[in-house]
Amino acid sequence: MLQPAPSVRSRKKALILGSIAGFLILTVAISVIVGFSVRFVTDNANSLDNDRSRSTIGAALHDVTARMEGITRDNTFWDVAAAEVYKNNVEWMVDSWGLTTADYPLYDEALVVESDGTPIIAYADGSPMTASPAQHYGPAFTALLQKVKLSEASGKDALMVSSFAITPKGLTVVGIGAVLSTDVNLKIAHDKRRYLVLARSQTGSHITAIGTEHVVPGLRFELTETPGLISHPVTDSAGTTLGYLTWPAQNPGHMSFNRVAPYLSAALALLGLLIIGFFVFSRFLVRDINRDRLMAQHKSTHDPLSGLLNRSGIFSILDEMISTRTSNKVPALLYLDLDGFKEVNDSYGHAVGDNLIRNVSSGLLDLAPQTAHVSRLGGDEFAILLSADHARDEAGRIAAAIHRMLKEPFNIDGRVIVVGASIGIALADSPGITGAELIRQADLAMYRAKDSGRGRTSFYQTGFDDERTRLHQLEADLRQAIVADELTVAYQPLVDAKTSMWHGVEALARWHNKRTGEIVGPDIFIALAERTGLIELLGLQILRKALADSRNWPDLKISVNVSPAQFRNPAFSDHVARILAETGADPKLLILEITENSLVRKPERARQIVKALKGLGVSISLDDFGSGFSSIGYLRQFDFDRLKIDRSFISALDREANAPNVIQATVALANAFNIPVTAEGVEREEQAALLRLTGCDQFQGFLFGKPMTANEINRILRDSVIEEVSAA
Ligand code: C2E
Ligand code: CA
Ligand code: CA
Repeated sequence: MLQPAPSVRSRKKALILGSIAGFLILTVAISVIVGFSVRFVTDNANSLDNDRSRSTIGAALHDVTARMEGITRDNTFWDVAAAEVYKNNVEWMVDSWGLTTADYPLYDEALVVESDGTPIIAYADGSPMTASPAQHYGPAFTALLQKVKLSEASGKDALMVSSFAITPKGLTVVGIGAVLSTDVNLKIAHDKRRYLVLARSQTGSHITAIGTEHVVPGLRFELTETPGLISHPVTDSAGTTLGYLTWPAQNPGHMSFNRVAPYLSAALALLGLLIIGFFVFSRFLVRDINRDRLMAQHKSTHDPLSGLLNRSGIFSILDEMISTRTSNKVPALLYLDLDGFKEVNDSYGHAVGDNLIRNVSSGLLDLAPQTAHVSRLGGDEFAILLSADHARDEAGRIAAAIHRMLKEPFNIDGRVIVVGASIGIALADSPGITGAELIRQADLAMYRAKDSGRGRTSFYQTGFDDERTRLHQLEADLRQAIVADELTVAYQPLVDAKTSMWHGVEALARWHNKRTGEIVGPDIFIALAERTGLIELLGLQILRKALADSRNWPDLKISVNVSPAQFRNPAFSDHVARILAETGADPKLLILEITENSLVRKPERARQIVKALKGLGVSISLDDFGSGFSSIGYLRQFDFDRLKIDRSFISALDREANAPNVIQATVALANAFNIPVTAEGVEREEQAALLRLTGCDQFQGFLFGKPMTANEINRILRDSVIEEVSAA
């Protein structure tokens, strides 16, 4: 039954489940962190790319205007052009610039304007332009012209400006610069200067080309922003937003994510499998732990020998039953103790005893109603717990059935064995009763049943508690009496069956309880002393007194009773030797009366003790023969000198027709083994006559003399001597 305690088991279980849960939480947490990281990397890559494309497009727009500035510079910072323009050679201007707009990739509009913006020539796509520049290019034109003139005024030379504008053809890049010569002789005053305006409309294909060049696919120009698309504003030289370049986000993060997605899914699937695996594993684990727990619980609540509930098993059910009882369903507890079990164990060994326990157990299970709980409390004690409408009647019926069952002998390993039971019953019908109290009451009732004789049932009564208290008091009184050496000894003659002459006397303990003034019978105080261990002191006290008194009776043997507990004490023979020496008594006169119980438990040891005692010169009588289980044939080995037939056999002579035959057979057998026999409790002459016929050679009984004080014995002996003398 080496099972870890329940608390240890549940701690272990909690630990294992806790670790699994911890592991799962950790795994999920790591997955979440990984998930968030992937998400972060993806988003971050996306937004980095968006930023890149924005700045690329910004640079591209700048490129477009810068290129237009370059083209403008090439055409204005030109000596030939300056000469022709300021000669006002319109034809040259139209040829060189105006007609070129027809199919020239660098510009498709060209104008030469006065410093106030009045056009000298204005061509678009190879044809003269009808609209004024301000109409065509909008406010951007005047702003650009203003800008270039302002920078010239600040002393800078040959400055080109360029910017975007919206024309009827759409987004257009416009560059303006003064037509100037490298020749210092050809210095033109500010207000006389003429300006070349070159413009290139940015058609869809231009924009697409910019996108392709800068790796921004889907690039378009729109007047307004489009939701969901990235955009970059396009402004004119005054800073007014003309529209937006828009393009869809590339989301390279998503692309990368899509690349790793299969691996991530695989990892996730593995994780899922792992978690499922752990769940399955922990289910098995929990099932195993639960099964172990149930087994341990079964073990801890059941008795391995009988398979019945054990003490703690029945206690837990009892508490539960009491807490759920109703006024018409009252729990009842039968407390059962086998009578004679110890003797069976002592005589036949533990294997037979165990077998008997199993037999009784299954008998009890058969008898008890289905709803009752049968348990073995240990040793030869059992309890039956039930809850019934008429609990008292039901418990009584079960007790009666148990007694009936035990009347039938058990056949165990070829031996016929009869045991009885003493049963105590207590009902949980009083308010506030606890399980422990119910057990105490049933136990008390059981002891009461045992005290009143074997095979009885007793229902608990409140008076039993007073009885228990009384017994405790009695024990204290007895202890006190022994300490104070207050016990006395009575002597009863043992007489010759034929002549009635005294062979000897038997010493019988007597107790006059000083505190209560009562005379307590030896049946009560000897049993009490045996139960409480006081018997060793008591026995030696009686032995000492008896041997001291017997010094006055040199012709009489002195018989002294020895309890099993005394007899089994290894020092017993030493005690006897010492007291013999102290009192100076003759060992040859001492007879120790022992009972069968002293012998059968450890036969080998018993034989040695008997040998040691006989070595002192002491004789041994087997007392109360016939009240136990053993046969003369078996007991003969212990080499005792005399056998005393139990008083119950003699009293049975008056009641049972068969009694003479039983006694006859017993005495005949003893005599056959050369063992002389004493008959105890001989009260009437008829009994004595019959017993003489059977072959008893010694009598003890009221017919020949009651137990009396040493002084009375002294007086009788003196009188008989006087009688003998006077008769002589
Ligand atoms: P026991 O050893 O069988 O003693 C004989 C008992 O039979 C005595 O009872 C005696 O008074 C009683 N008796 C004798 N003749 C008759 C008779 O004709 N009729 C009836 N009805 N009874 C008779 P007692 O003195 O009451 O002792 C009872 C038992 O107590 C003894 O039975 C013995 O087992 C035990 N006992 C007494 N003194 C001692 C002792 O000093 N040590 C031990 N260990 N046991 C003792
Ligand atoms: Ca005796
Ligand atoms: Ca006796």
